[in-house]
Amino acid sequence: MSAKLRLQVVDEAFKRHPVFVDSPVERPSEYFGKYVFGRDKMFKYLPSDVYKKMCDVIDNGAPFERSIADAVAAGMVTWAKELGVTHYTHWFQPLTEGTAEKHDGFVEHDGKGGMMEEFTGKLLIQQEPDASSFPSGGIRSTFEARGYSAWDPTSPVFVIGDTLMIPTIFISYTGEALDYKVPLKKALYAVDKAATAVCQYFNPEVKKVVSNLGWEQEYFLVDEALYAARPDMVMTGRTLMGHDSAKNQQMEDHYFGSIPARVEEFMKDIEITALELGIPCKTRHNEVAPNQFELAPIFEETNLAVDHNMLMMSIMKRVARKHGFRCLLHEKPFKGVNGSGKHNNWSLSTDTGILLHAPGKTPLDNLRFVTFVVETLKGVYDHNGLLKASIMSASNAHRLGANEAPPAIISSFLGRTVTALLDHVEKADEDALRVDGKTAFKLDLPSIPELFIDNTDRNRTSPFAFTGNRFEFRAVGSEANCASAMLTLNAAVAEALVDFKERVDALIAAGEDKEAAILKIVREDIKYIRPIIFNGNGYGEEWKVEAAKRGLDCETSAPLIFDSYLKESSIKMFEKTKVMTAPELEARNEIKWETYTKKIQIESRIFGDLCLNHIIPVVTKYQSMLIDNVHKVMEIFPEEKAKAISKENLLIIERISDHESFIIEKVEAMVDARRVANKIESEREKAIAYHDTVAPLLEEIRYHVDKLETIVDDEAWPLPKYRELLFIR
Ligand code: ADP
Ligand code: MG
Repeated sequence: MSAKLRLQVVDEAFKRHPVFVDSPVERPSEYFGKYVFGRDKMFKYLPSDVYKKMCDVIDNGAPFERSIADAVAAGMVTWAKELGVTHYTHWFQPLTEGTAEKHDGFVEHDGKGGMMEEFTGKLLIQQEPDASSFPSGGIRSTFEARGYSAWDPTSPVFVIGDTLMIPTIFISYTGEALDYKVPLKKALYAVDKAATAVCQYFNPEVKKVVSNLGWEQEYFLVDEALYAARPDMVMTGRTLMGHDSAKNQQMEDHYFGSIPARVEEFMKDIEITALELGIPCKTRHNEVAPNQFELAPIFEETNLAVDHNMLMMSIMKRVARKHGFRCLLHEKPFKGVNGSGKHNNWSLSTDTGILLHAPGKTPLDNLRFVTFVVETLKGVYDHNGLLKASIMSASNAHRLGANEAPPAIISSFLGRTVTALLDHVEKADEDALRVDGKTAFKLDLPSIPELFIDNTDRNRTSPFAFTGNRFEFRAVGSEANCASAMLTLNAAVAEALVDFKERVDALIAAGEDKEAAILKIVREDIKYIRPIIFNGNGYGEEWKVEAAKRGLDCETSAPLIFDSYLKESSIKMFEKTKVMTAPELEARNEIKWETYTKKIQIESRIFGDLCLNHIIPVVTKYQSMLIDNVHKVMEIFPEEKAKAISKENLLIIERISDHESFIIEKVEAMVDARRVANKIESEREKAIAYHDTVAPLLEEIRYHVDKLETIVDDEAWPLPKYRELLFIR
């Protein structure tokens, strides 16, 4: 980047440094949920019988009666108008990466030639957005273009600016899901039913099990002016070229470092906005890479947490611009430094507490704990390839398997404590576990409470780590909709629990007592799930060999990883839990392959452009300058002397030529590879072709561009470099 541009950018950044954010006068607890039609607002704005019915819908999953829709809408709109709201929209999560909304005013004919403001129950609960421009994976062409969005009363309505935002599900004319929320809600229903039934072995009072999600969102901030000067970032969200800067993260001085002032003001701003929208933000810190940060709210019920994450990502992008930043949510914006993930902390709980919590006071509690840990792992083991597919994308593929993130193999870290506990349960003989004959039952685990005091150890290399009272699914990508991972995990666990209960019940029916039956099946399953447990270093090469021996899914190609969705065991699991049908799964895979292809295609196109019309012209110009210089030296010095003087320049001229011809030749080859791939009919085969023949060229060519970056005059280099992108803040 030219010195002039650099000065300009720094100057601009300095002027904006920082935009001080006025903190509200109230405490966070007072403005929390200010723009949410939550329970407090419902109590105030709804008739009491309607309020009670709404609580029943939210708390107990009671069906929503259409007869109360008008009353709910009326209360909602009274509240919203007090906030100056004039529009409303159904807010849904189509199978793209973002959310969708179409705003309508509260405008209606009044029948007297004028207009009135109206918002009815009908408008609240259902809309018909044209589905034809959203990905449907073929469902659209086979059936009809029409789609329906329907209100999800379990996720509260909120206000942004002048618009009432109504969280909805999105389905096709024929009822197939066209979004993430429908299957997610079905999976949450399935896991509730399955886990409640198993819980009742231990506590017959349990009526409902809730799935919880606490996400941790990583992101990068880049100065807006620098971002605008990088067409690759603007088009793809990541840098497709760029040499390492001398300093990156090797000093380990960024993680948990003091937060730069301008960034802190940005964080404050997004947190206030989020808290007002009912997102319980709690944690903020610097992440490992320079200009990388993290934000985490406290955990919530999974459906709500997913909505809140989608909302948070859009808040982050919007607010960043106010502070002169761009917020990058891409999993791998920069080569050579850490990428961004979104750890999904997951657990199940009842109103009596978290089911994955450290062993409780009674032996029965301990057995319950072991049961839920083991059956979770059974779900994860049976569907390890599918879970990997649920977090795979063209962008997350850069993270998985690189030496910074979990490998592209799903395994679980349990830590010494829980591993020892499972060993003990598996090996202990019946007598040791049984006292007083059949009536009392004792799980002899004296070491547990003590070991749990220091909580579990940590393993950053594990994609699915047990962390004391939850599992942390660490392989999820920063840009992803958490719903994809969460619906798969919850459905897989639901299947394992249903299967567990069937086997236990069979033993009970055959005369075994309850605890003994549970223990027998748990032991069977502990033996069975051994291959998924891995407490070692997930980054090591040895693990790949070992994992393959254990029969875990080790595929690394994203388009092939998606095949897992269509495996017989996956279809069976999704159909048994009623989460998705085979046609829905097939349609979704078409979308996954198509999206993969398009992403690589866009990257390849913009990369080719940058090579040919940004890099090559500048490099050629610089090379000509050197050639001129050599000629001039030849003119004024005797031949031998001139050669000696120009030795270095001649070398550079030659090296530039080599890199240049490689780049030009391979960009052409890349265009050809695209041409061939584009002719392929099948989305799957096309994605495979993009993966195998186009994506590798991006990397190969990049190597030469990055080399040129270190040779050519900095003044002439047309793009901001890593040292600027990562360190100006
Ligand atoms: P870490 O030390 O793993 O980085 P953080 O504090 O950044 O932890 O985030 C942990 C996340 O896990 C938070 O969102 C927190 O609310 C959530 N969490 C804690 N306990 C549970 C639980 N039992 N189930 C689900 N999420 C949980
Ligand atoms: Mg964490």
